Amino acid sequence: MSAPLTLAPAPRVGMVSLGCPKALVDSERILSRLRADGYAFAPDYAGADVVLVNTCGFLDSAKAESLAAIGEAVAENGRVVVTGCLGHEADMIRAAHPKVLAVTGPQQYDAVVGAVHAAAPPVPSPYTDLAAVKLTPPHYAYVKISEGCNHRCRFCIIPSLRGDLASRPAAAVVREAHELVARGTRELLVVSQDTSAYGVDLGHAVSAWRGREYRAHITDLARALGETGAWVRLHYIYPYPHVDALMPLMADGLVLPYLDIPFQHASPPVLKAMRRPANEAKVLERIARWRSVVPDLALRSTFIVGFPGETEVDFQYLLDWLEAAQIDRAGCFKYEAVAGAAANDLPGAVPEAVKEDRWHRFMAAQARISAARLAAKVGRTLEVIIDAVDDAGGASGRSKYDAPEIDGEVHLRDCSGLKPGDIVPVLVEDADEVDLFGVPA
Ligand code: SF4
Repeated sequence: MSAPLTLAPAPRVGMVSLGCPKALVDSERILSRLRADGYAFAPDYAGADVVLVNTCGFLDSAKAESLAAIGEAVAENGRVVVTGCLGHEADMIRAAHPKVLAVTGPQQYDAVVGAVHAAAPPVPSPYTDLAAVKLTPPHYAYVKISEGCNHRCRFCIIPSLRGDLASRPAAAVVREAHELVARGTRELLVVSQDTSAYGVDLGHAVSAWRGREYRAHITDLARALGETGAWVRLHYIYPYPHVDALMPLMADGLVLPYLDIPFQHASPPVLKAMRRPANEAKVLERIARWRSVVPDLALRSTFIVGFPGETEVDFQYLLDWLEAAQIDRAGCFKYEAVAGAAANDLPGAVPEAVKEDRWHRFMAAQARISAARLAAKVGRTLEVIIDAVDDAGGASGRSKYDAPEIDGEVHLRDCSGLKPGDIVPVLVEDADEVDLFGVPA
């Protein structure tokens, strides 16, 4: 009888993932590669042979958070590989934390995987699990359709970190979506830096999968993703004219009636100073046209107050615009200088106290608008995807109008038997400024 096969234990990797959903997708890709190489994952510092820290380097506050996370990993484990956006500032990281084993930048998958191999060599195994790693719950997944950006907004350093727009072939995205849906994913969250520009760099080239051709264009891609049967939610869209063509897909139920558009401001002089794409003055008309086709279209956005040169007139314009646009959800940031950003050279810095005051006024105005839009949903029956259930017969989920993490929730009572990923009709009984409350219909 031959001796039983004994496998050496797989080296274990710990992961700290910071930053935006795009960084989370990078973490998933790195971990998928490592799993294919035979690594196991450790849920804590103590059990890890090496710890990977995927950093964010967008704002100074994010840099500080990343440096603190690196410091914690070094103190708790000692064997640390750093990757992600802050990886561009390797000297700064090494000065703060000389013990890190390696520093790699964003999307440098080969380099980061190589650094992990050097820190904890893999053990070859015929039983390697080739399934991709997801860091989100099984029922939803971020699908990254492109990297980089062709714009040069003055407050942003992403193009210098991640380069120009580089889109994935449409067939590769469609194949990934079908694989996710086959494994139980019910909601696909499409992310990139500029989703509406998808495929421009490829000349909207056609690619094939399972005998069907797919054009690298956001309208075609959104339709193809919708045909998987999953909810399809589009993030980081700009209000270009061709976005109008997405509305019929929403009206037909192929794509969720939801657009995440980072407007950042509304006042034309500020948008111009920011060098924002699609900053024409007719955006309100465009939104009205969209809502004439998709009456329940939900808009989520982010804004910056206190950009250099922003006057009280500009800010008041923004508040009036917000009222007219009836944005469902909005986040607001006080402008912060980012090392390397062109906006740092602009005159007209806004005093911190003025930024603070504008931020509070913005948040109060938006809270009123959000509350009114949510109150209008009371009494309606909405489809809700369940995110979590509790032991007391309650659950929380989201309607089509809300993305995970960034928007609100629907809190359910009397709904035992549900599980995450179920999509159920819910009678909305109440609302506050953020969330809805209801019961299965
Ligand atoms: S569109 Fe502007 S803010 Fe967005 S990634 Fe590109 S340069 Fe940065």
